[in-house]
Amino acid sequence: MRVHPVDLGEGVRAFFTLSSGGVSPAPWAPETGGGLNLGLNVADDEARVRENRARVSERLGAPVAFANQVHGDAVLVLGAAERAAWAATEPPGSAGDADALVTDQAGLGLGVLVADCVPVLLADPVAGVVGVVHAGRKGLAAGVVHRALDAMTARGAELSRVRAAVGPAVCGRCYEVPEAMRAEVAAAVPESWATTDAGTPGLDLPAGVLAQLAARGVEAVHVERCTRTDGELFSHRRATEAGTTTGRQAGVVTLLS
Ligand SMILES: [Zn+2]
Repeated sequence: MRVHPVDLGEGVRAFFTLSSGGVSPAPWAPETGGGLNLGLNVADDEARVRENRARVSERLGAPVAFANQVHGDAVLVLGAAERAAWAATEPPGSAGDADALVTDQAGLGLGVLVADCVPVLLADPVAGVVGVVHAGRKGLAAGVVHRALDAMTARGAELSRVRAAVGPAVCGRCYEVPEAMRAEVAAAVPESWATTDAGTPGLDLPAGVLAQLAARGVEAVHVERCTRTDGELFSHRRATEAGTTTGRQAGVVTLLS
């Protein structure tokens, strides 16, 4: 399985998955087949998704908890008790409704599912706290990135030590939105204001996330790959334009035990 690894510090393993390396067929796969669809709610067969998730967990070296993402700003902190409760379900299901997960538990993977929205991976390797964030249009404006950073500092992280990775997402040149929607989101996050290649109103979600991280003094690396135009990645927008559905890729992070 090919992945896009990111360095979030010593004792932390993190990467972004691509659309291949799994067992799902089209439309949850790239043209080359072997789709690594990790989303359970996109009409793919559940057994295939479980197999794909198992492959990602194996690669990460830890079981991966995913939240049921609801485009809000809620953060779920998985401490020892929550981890035990989640792991006791067979097979492990959703960790709960949230758009960010945070843990200080080594050996527990956290995952965020996306197919155009922005996946963010966070780690303070010194404090031993990691997090993932699902930042779509609504979550970005609602401040879910800030809420995740707050949850990390509450567990002992320091913003000056936190490293962030902003993963593949739809870019501002491709993400066309109605004028009023651009105005609404840009009112909350000015850096997200964009114009598409077609000259129409757009939103640059990765730029918005990077600005929010920078405002908190968090150092970030940006994986500049656009989901809509990159054939190795799932894109909800590209699939919708083609009249079909698609899968979900993930960003995952864990503290090595
Ligand atoms: Zn693009």
